[in-house]
Amino acid sequence: MRIVLLGAPGSGKGTQCKSLVEKYGLLHMSSGDILRKERAAKSELGQKAQSYMDSGALVPDDLIIEMMSKAIKEAPKSGFILDGFPRTVNQAIELDKAMADAGMKIDFVLNLEVDDSIIEKRITGRRSCPKCGAVYHIENMKPKQDGICDNDETELVQRADDTAEVVAKRLDNYHQQTEPLVDYYKKNGNVYDLRSDRDPEIVKEDIFKILDF
Ligand code: AMP
Repeated sequence: MRIVLLGAPGSGKGTQCKSLVEKYGLLHMSSGDILRKERAAKSELGQKAQSYMDSGALVPDDLIIEMMSKAIKEAPKSGFILDGFPRTVNQAIELDKAMADAGMKIDFVLNLEVDDSIIEKRITGRRSCPKCGAVYHIENMKPKQDGICDNDETELVQRADDTAEVVAKRLDNYHQQTEPLVDYYKKNGNVYDLRSDRDPEIVKEDIFKILDF
C-alpha cells in the first residue's frame, strides 16, 4: 500500500503516520525528517536546505525531487507513506513519473484538514527531544517533568521553524503552493478528506476504515 499524506504543517501528519506504520508495517518517508538528518550530518544537501527551512520557505523542487526519487527507489515493496512530499504540483508530477518508472502507483491520498488558528497554537507549543525525536506540547501533551524528555531526560527544544513568525510563513506557503495538490489528486479519485481538529484517535479510526474497506 502506498499513501500520500497531505495537510498543513501541524495538521497531525506525524501522529497519524506512527499509527499507520504500526498497523500496516509501512515505511514512513518524511521529507522534513530526511532534510533534518541531512542538516545534522552537514551534508551538501543539508547545507543547501538550511536557510530555506529556517525561514519557513520551501526547499527548491530540484533538490527535493532528487532526494525523494532516491528514497522511493530504495523503498521496500511492502509499501510506504509519504509525509511532507509532494508539496508542489511540480513535485507531484515528478512523483507520478518516478512511481510509473518503478511500476508502482499511489493507492490513497489522505488529506488532513485543520483551521490555521488551531495550527498556530499546536505548532508554537510543540517541543521535541533532540536525542530520540519524541514530540510534546506545552499544554496538550506535557512531559512528566517540564522541558525534559520522558524517555531519556534530554532537555526539550523548539524547532527553529516552529516560532509564530515562521509558522505564519509556512502556512502561507502551504495555502499557495501545496493546497492546489488536493485538486491535482482529486482528478484521480483517490483523495479522502479528514477533519483533523478532532481527537487523533478518532481520526486514526476513520483512516483505518478507509484503508481497510
Ligand atoms: P516539515 O517537517 O515537513 O514541516 O518540513 C520542514 C521544512 O523542510 C519545510 O518548512 C521546508 O522548508 C522543508 N521541506 C520539507 N519537505 C519539503 C518539500 N516536499 N518541498 C520543499 N521543502 C520541503
